[in-house]
Amino acid sequence: MKCDLCGGKVEKKLISYTLFYEGHWIVVENVPAKVCRQCGEKLFAPDTVDRLQNIIWSKQKPTKKIGMPVFNLGLAK
Ligand SMILES: [Zn+2]
Repeated sequence: MKCDLCGGKVEKKLISYTLFYEGHWIVVENVPAKVCRQCGEKLFAPDTVDRLQNIIWSKQKPTKKIGMPVFNLGLAK
C-alpha cells in the first residue's frame, strides 16, 4: 500500500492519536494506523475511525490522565 499524498511506503503501526476537543487535549493510545515513512501521513481504517469517534463522543472515563507541559512561542525570548 502507498501513501495517498506522496506515494511513499506506509507501514502498520500503533500510534497515539491526539485531538483537541471541547477545550481539552485527548490522547487515545494504541490506535492502529498506517503511517507513511516519507511524509508521516496517518491513514486509519473506517472501523478505527468509528471506534475513535465513539470513544471521544461517549465521554467515557479515561484510562488515565496525564499532565501536559504547554509552551507559548509567542512569549519566548
Ligand atoms: Zn506520504
